[in-house]
Amino acid sequence: MTTIPGLHHVTAISGPPQENLDFFTGTLRQRLVKTTVNFDAPDTYHLYYGNRAAQPGTILTFFPFVDAGPGRAGPGMASAYAYAVPKGGFDGWMERLGDAAVDFDGPYERFGARVLTLRDPDGAPVELAETDCVSDEALDGFHSVTLWLRDLAPTARLLTDAFGYADAGSETAGGIERLRLVAPGHERGNIVDLIRSDARATARPGAGTIHHVAFRARNDAEQRGWQDRLAGFGHRTTQVIDRQYFNAIYFREPGGVLFEIATDPPGFTADEPMETLGQALKLPAQHEPLRDRLERILPPLRRRA
Ligand code: ZN
Repeated sequence: MTTIPGLHHVTAISGPPQENLDFFTGTLRQRLVKTTVNFDAPDTYHLYYGNRAAQPGTILTFFPFVDAGPGRAGPGMASAYAYAVPKGGFDGWMERLGDAAVDFDGPYERFGARVLTLRDPDGAPVELAETDCVSDEALDGFHSVTLWLRDLAPTARLLTDAFGYADAGSETAGGIERLRLVAPGHERGNIVDLIRSDARATARPGAGTIHHVAFRARNDAEQRGWQDRLAGFGHRTTQVIDRQYFNAIYFREPGGVLFEIATDPPGFTADEPMETLGQALKLPAQHEPLRDRLERILPPLRRRA
């Protein structure tokens, strides 16, 4: 049986792009691996951050809407993602953030490991989770994503029965019940936490919120298999959409969160070499005729070397 190995990417909405770029490539030491536009609304950037090799499971993307109003996480939305801190690196991160006068909450214990939470320029939580993974990256891609739900069971069933995740237990802290599901294998981003809170809250999309969560398919055949498999579980997916760097299908999981299944190939070197990923504005063929106009209206970006 094919299973989902873990996260492919997480896509969020931000305010102005420069602050976003400075935070993720500066404070969090991620690599800008693609500068492109929102294929469905090309007068807005789509910025992709990842590890040096731009691998699935490390990719965080943003639609930076210059005039996006502030959003708010709530039930039916992914409420946080966590980066994996490689073994031995956690104390160094606390020191580094302290030296840079970057505020954070924690560390606190979650399933026996330390986690701290900082805020991105839009106030969205960015969690750093201590792991046993060995890596020379400052952060080794995703540790997990957290989905905020009114009822955990239907989403948990989808993840276990369809995706192949295993129930790793639950814990309650600060009035928040957290159920952990773990994908088999030890790929990056193989954890999904489901939380339920007694606090009354209503999700509102906008800057500082997560738009969707994408899981990996290793290739196109696996992705077609997921369309059939999910149909068998009563989830109708979209047709396959060409996203230039991967093929994508989408569906809304029972708790209301938008899920995507994205293929590993062709990857971010599809239209530029590994050495210069992210440095130039890349447009898919259908938007290339708009290049002159887009280069005039998109705010210029100061990238790090
Ligand atoms: Zn996506």
